[in-house]
Order: sequence, then C-alpha cells, then structure tokens
Amino acid sequence: MRRIVNTAYISKIEGTPTGVWCTQFSVEEIMKLDIDALYAIAMEDTGRTIPPEKSPKAQRNFVEFLCDEYDIRHTVSNSIDWMINKITEATGSIKPMLSISSEYIKPPRECIIKLIERNIERGHSNHDHNKVIAFELINGGWSDKDISFVFKSIYNEPAGNWGWYTNDPNKAGSKITALRAKGINRYSCDKLQELRVCLGNKCSCR
Ligand SMILES: [Zn+2]
Repeated sequence: MRRIVNTAYISKIEGTPTGVWCTQFSVEEIMKLDIDALYAIAMEDTGRTIPPEKSPKAQRNFVEFLCDEYDIRHTVSNSIDWMINKITEATGSIKPMLSISSEYIKPPRECIIKLIERNIERGHSNHDHNKVIAFELINGGWSDKDISFVFKSIYNEPAGNWGWYTNDPNKAGSKITALRAKGINRYSCDKLQELRVCLGNKCSCR
C-alpha cells in the first residue's frame, strides 16, 4: 500500500493537507459510485477500515497462475506449499514458506499422487489409503491446511468425527495431528505394493 489508510494526503508543494483522506472503498462502492461521489467520501476522515477478504480459492488460483507462468506442471493434488516451493526454485525470488528444512522433505511419490486423484474422483477412500496419504504428505512437508484440503476434496462432505479433516479449513483433523506427532516415515515401496497402492513398474517409488 502506498499510503496508510485514514491519513491525510499532504501536498508535495505546500507541505499541507490537501483535504483528501486516504480512504478504503469496497468493491461495490467502486463499481456503483462515480468519481465525484468517491471524492466526496474521501473529503472526510471517516476512520473506517474494510477487513481484507481472504479466499483460499483465490490464493490457489493465483499460485496456479504463477506455476503456469513458470511452466511448472501441477495437479489438483499438489499443495500450495509444494507449488510455492517450485516457484521459489524457478525464480529464486520468493521466500520459502515451508516450516521444515527442505533436506527432510520428500516429494510425494507418483503412485500416491495417483491414489489421491483416484480417490478424489470416486469420492471415497479407506483407512489404509488415508494413512498412506497422510504419511506421504506429512513427510512431504505439507501443511495441516493443505492436507485437510486433500481429504476434504476426497470426501466432499462435512468432516464428522473421522479425524482426517475438520470443518475449519485451517485446522488439521485429530488423526493427522496424532500421525504428525508420531514422526513416522512414509510407507515403504514394499508396503505400497502389498496394499496394492502401487501398481505400475514404471513408478518412481520402485
Ligand atoms: Zn509407486
């Protein structure tokens, strides 16, 4: 922001207030009012502030847009943190937002990404699959918010008491918190094959 809201504009020539206040407007006001009406409001120190509207969807759209700009391939199951990390790698200009050191981050393997996509498509998963997904994403450095988003996308219904996500998009499900606390490694390739999660010989996990 160029100016602090609800402060007077100072004339650069005179060094005195111009009578116009730095004023926030809602989108509705900008669309409905003409410039004279907007100025009339800005001539008074209204002291009002409009809280920003934070939209996870808008954030995701924006990050996906940046990925496209930098030719970073992404799917619905890539987390925002993952994409930001890729953008950081591509540009070297955005500060990483991951909370754990990148040395310990293992990007989710191909068959798990496919499992997530499959389960989102059929709107169903099971306890084993959920644990596979949860450990994979926790080990991948994903945030509670992004893990919740994946499980919510799979089930597409109110969270209930299952513990994989909550109705608060920023809060982890109780199971995720418990699994995180265990600090366990993600599933081995052998185990993934045993669970028939990994079916392809060409998968990166083999
Ligand atoms: Zn695999």
